[in-house]
Amino acid sequence: MIHASAAIAVARDVGALRATVKQWRNAGDKVALIPTMGALHEGHASLVRQGQEEARRTIVSIFVNPTQFAPTEDFAAYPRTFETDCAMLAAIGADLVYAPTAAVMYPPGFSSTVSVGGPATVGLEDAYRPQFFTGVATIVAKLLIQSAPDVALFGQKDYQQLQVIRHMVRDLDLPVTIMGAETIREPDGLAMSSRNRYLSETERKTAAFIPAALRDCAAALRDGSAPAPTLSEARARLERAGFVLDYLELRDAETLAPVAALSGQPARLLVAAKIGTTRLIDNWAV
Ligand code: AMP
Repeated sequence: MIHASAAIAVARDVGALRATVKQWRNAGDKVALIPTMGALHEGHASLVRQGQEEARRTIVSIFVNPTQFAPTEDFAAYPRTFETDCAMLAAIGADLVYAPTAAVMYPPGFSSTVSVGGPATVGLEDAYRPQFFTGVATIVAKLLIQSAPDVALFGQKDYQQLQVIRHMVRDLDLPVTIMGAETIREPDGLAMSSRNRYLSETERKTAAFIPAALRDCAAALRDGSAPAPTLSEARARLERAGFVLDYLELRDAETLAPVAALSGQPARLLVAAKIGTTRLIDNWAV
């Protein structure tokens, strides 16, 4: 069934999605998929615009995926702003919103998962959210199989997630090109995130210490400072600013294997930190 919401078509189930994609395919159009959990912001919009450069047709999926949240996490409280999201996507000129229900994605009896291995899934988010990548890989695999796009776009904001998805697509020979897009930031450097709306005014100001610490740490590493003390200093700086740090680590930019010493290879700083009850993640190229 296709509905029209705020001037954009909305597919609620796999049948409607596939029927639309089939029409586009028959017309020879390329298709891009942008998976999201809604509560859209300029970071999501930039993914859609890049999708439009890659393909004649863009699908934005909106699904708050229960299986990637632990029972203690913010699934119930996660912001849901469907009408505003649709209006924004209509204004950008996306072609279809795919907003399946939980019953469509996980019908009674559903019992399969996609579990991704390799260094990309070791540590970082996986150490703090052990359910997360299996939840993400399973839902992204389903979305890719359901919509069969030529390209799918993901933000570098969730850097480890992007590498895990690349790994899954390679391992499973899924016929899709994965593109990673630059992180869109607020004027003070804070990476845009649907979760930023949880921040109080004071926390919002403090949150800008994250990109500042990453930027300075990356600059020091590039200038030849030794990683261990440089990362310790950045961790201490964030803790002094009021964060409870889950991790701040230096990893190989592609494999995400831990990096103890830089020798010209592209590396990435990755951080997760809590301010109050809000957990923020970010990363920076070195
Ligand atoms: P989410 O709705 O938070 O699950 O994110 C959906 C997609 O948007 C993911 O691929 C994210 O990495 C991407 N994304 C989220 N925030 C940003 C941002 N600030 N800049 C670029 N992409 C982003």
